[in-house]
Amino acid sequence: MERIKKTFVIIGAGPTGLGAALRLQELGETNFLLVEAAGEAGGLASSVKDEHGFTWDLGGHVQFSHYEIFDEYMDLALGKGGWLHHVRESWVWMRNRFIPYPFQYNLHRLPGEEKWTCAQGLLKASLDGKWQPKNFKEWILHTFGTGMAEAFFFPYNSKVWAYPLEMMGQQWMGERVAIPDLEKVLAGICLDQDHISWGPNHTFRFPKVGGTGAVWRSLAQRLPEEKLKPGKKVVSVNTNERIIQLESGETYEYEYLISSIPLDRLTKMSDRSDLAEETSKLLYSSAHIFGIGLEGKVPEHLRTKCWIYFPESNSPFYRVTVFSNYSPWNTPRPGRTWSLMAEVSQSAYKPVNGETIFDEVINGLLATKLIRSNDQIISKWHRFLNYGYPTPSIARDEILDYVLPELEKCNVFSRGRFGAWKYEVSNQDHSFMQGWECVDRILENDSECEPTLNFPSKVNGTYNRKKESRSIIGETSK
Ligand SMILES: Cc1cc2nc3c(=O)[nH]c(=O)nc-3n(C[C@H](O)[C@H](O)[C@H](O)COP(=O)(O)OP(=O)(O)OC[C@H]3O[C@@H](n4cnc5c(N)ncnc54)[C@H](O)[C@@H]3O)c2cc1C
Repeated sequence: MERIKKTFVIIGAGPTGLGAALRLQELGETNFLLVEAAGEAGGLASSVKDEHGFTWDLGGHVQFSHYEIFDEYMDLALGKGGWLHHVRESWVWMRNRFIPYPFQYNLHRLPGEEKWTCAQGLLKASLDGKWQPKNFKEWILHTFGTGMAEAFFFPYNSKVWAYPLEMMGQQWMGERVAIPDLEKVLAGICLDQDHISWGPNHTFRFPKVGGTGAVWRSLAQRLPEEKLKPGKKVVSVNTNERIIQLESGETYEYEYLISSIPLDRLTKMSDRSDLAEETSKLLYSSAHIFGIGLEGKVPEHLRTKCWIYFPESNSPFYRVTVFSNYSPWNTPRPGRTWSLMAEVSQSAYKPVNGETIFDEVINGLLATKLIRSNDQIISKWHRFLNYGYPTPSIARDEILDYVLPELEKCNVFSRGRFGAWKYEVSNQDHSFMQGWECVDRILENDSECEPTLNFPSKVNGTYNRKKESRSIIGETSK
């Protein structure tokens, strides 16, 4: 079979691969190819319509954009009219009641004794200033104190991450966890007031039709057909000769390879067994996504809620999204049907029984009063994601700091949620921009110019405006 030579080969048409491809197209670089194992683009940000007409994302996807460029592409993907805008209303369900998120500022909603335990723990922790936490568990204790740690942060984080919290580092936190302001915490309790994190500045947008996947299907269509090959799985990478081989037998030679598949898989299918040994030490957790489609209107107590966190053991899920609130068109008969999406994590430390888990989810929804026993469930959908969350383990950064530059020496750039394995920059906006910035970095030959990969706290701490010199997008689309 004839071997074709490309300047750029990109593996994976999720947000990262599409970010890279669209950037190349924008810069007028035509000799590239994007190969995707699945039948369509989108990766973990895809959506599925089930046999009963309910649309599901692969886990609750919300757009938290940190980038002007990303927002421009979102506008381009669906047009201004293709979006619904929502106030970001998130809650915690515990002690048989809803507590607004963030938990730490709404302690007054807890039962009497527990308010004091939480406040007392925080007071003690704030007096204990010099202690240097060595892992995520210690960081929680140091930041929130024993009371809040035991009531919410330990059980909730153990449920989401599916690993003992001592195995996790603390370097990744940045903006993800709101550090408590003692005065605000105490004011909340004493004044018996809610402190909610939502409001006019806390909005997000969601596609009106087609779920999150509609965005990525649309952006993929902006690439010429011959540049995106769906249904093509890469099975081996020869970093020495710079050749990839597809399952279908075709081979491609590349000058630069941008890969968005999990880093451990990439190194395993490559000729770098030394790196494969290193990446096998990276940790990840899997995710089960459950869609529950129901007859009728969304109940009043869930009418404006977006998602709810569940720290307690009376439910197997850590989070439930009221998915029909994101768009009524996520259901077959808008206004007359509604839907919930529940997420359950899994790892070697937290096994899940595949035979019983759906029943456990339904029982959990009943126990937490999200549904009632006489509610009519008309659809039950389940998807298992082997690679769900890239775990920020203690050893992670040392492994990445060695493996990523080693690959780059042979022009292989591993980027994206599992490509770069950095949870703190693994949302859709980050992933898209990792692909985008990687192209700029290669073309400008400047190893410093990938802010998302190299400076996560910096990009997460601001809204990143585009450079003035950038060309206007959209002109090169087909
Ligand atoms: C449960 C959950 C909830 C999430 N919530 C949010 C959220 O609220 N907001 C948000 O912005 N983001 C969220 N995300 C993250 C979002 O899904 C990711 O940011 C994004 O999909 C990562 O893009 P990526 O391109 O790096 O990787 P992926 O989306 O994983 O894309 C990689 C692509 O590579 C392909 N591939 C794999 N192996 C091969 C091979 N051998 N050959 C060819 N192709 C291959 C895959 O099929 C896939 O399409 C969530 C993710 C999960 C799992």
